[in-house]
Amino acid sequence: MSTCLNCNLVIKPNVCTAECDGCQGVIHTSCTGLSESEIVRTRSKSKSVKVLCTPCNNRFLQFKELSNLMTTLKNDFSQQLLEMKTQVSDQIAEIKTSLNHVKQPEPSFSFEEIIEEINERQKRKKNIMIVGIPEPSENNSNPENKSDSEVVLDMLKSLKSDFNGNEMKVIRLGRQPPADHQRSRPIKVILNDESEAVSLLRSARKLKSVERFKTCHMFSDKTPRQQEFYRGLKQQLDGRTQNGETNLKIVYKNDIPRIVSLN
Ligand SMILES: [Zn+2]
Ligand SMILES: [Zn+2]
Repeated sequence: MSTCLNCNLVIKPNVCTAECDGCQGVIHTSCTGLSESEIVRTRSKSKSVKVLCTPCNNRFLQFKELSNLMTTLKNDFSQQLLEMKTQVSDQIAEIKTSLNHVKQPEPSFSFEEIIEEINERQKRKKNIMIVGIPEPSENNSNPENKSDSEVVLDMLKSLKSDFNGNEMKVIRLGRQPPADHQRSRPIKVILNDESEAVSLLRSARKLKSVERFKTCHMFSDKTPRQQEFYRGLKQQLDGRTQNGETNLKIVYKNDIPRIVSLN
C-alpha cells in the first residue's frame, strides 16, 4: 500500500489519486491543491496542467531560485568583465601613448667612456670659448696685429679689471684658414680655475657695450655630448612652445640643463 506524498497518509482503495509529474509518485487529488477542472486537464493528452507533489515542488522552487541566482551571477560577471575589458584597454592605450613619448634608448657606454666624459666636462669648466676675434694677420681688421693672447687679455680685462691672465692659455681651434678667409676660428681660453671662468662668463654680457668687442661672443666650453644634449633639449622646448606651452626655460641644475615651466 502506498502513501500520499503530500499528506503521508495511506491511500485507501477507491480514493481519487493523481500521479506527480516530477517523481511519478501518487498523491490524493484532494492533496494536489488543484480544482476538479484542473485535475481533468492533468489527465488530458496535452497535460496542460502539471501535478507536482510537495517534495518535487520544493525541489522545483529551489531549482528556480538557483537558476535565478545563476542568472544574477552571470549578469554580474559579464558586467565586471566588461568593466575590466574597458579598464585594460584604457591602460593599454595609456601605455601605448607613454611608449610613444619614450625617446630612443641612449646607446650604452662603458664605465671608462662615462668617466672620460665626466673628466672632460670637469676639465672644460676652466675654459671659455670666444668667437669673433679676427685672425692675427696683416690683411685683416687687426691693424695693430696683436697676438691672440694680447687681444684676449684685453677683452677679459674689459670684463674684470682685476683679471691678470697669469698662466692663461689661448688656443685657436681648427686648421689655419686661407688668408682671404672671412670667418675667424674660435678661440679656447684655458684659465687657472673654474671660478675664474664662471665669473668671466657671468659678465660676458658686458662685451656688447665695449665697442671693439661688440661682435664677439663668449660661452662655456661644452663636450660634444653636452652640446648634443642641449640641442635636443632646445628642440623639445621649441616643440612644446609650438604646442602652446608658455614660460618654458632651460635651467641648469647640478650642471645639467633641463626644461622648467615658470608658470
Ligand atoms: Zn494526501
Ligand atoms: Zn513528486
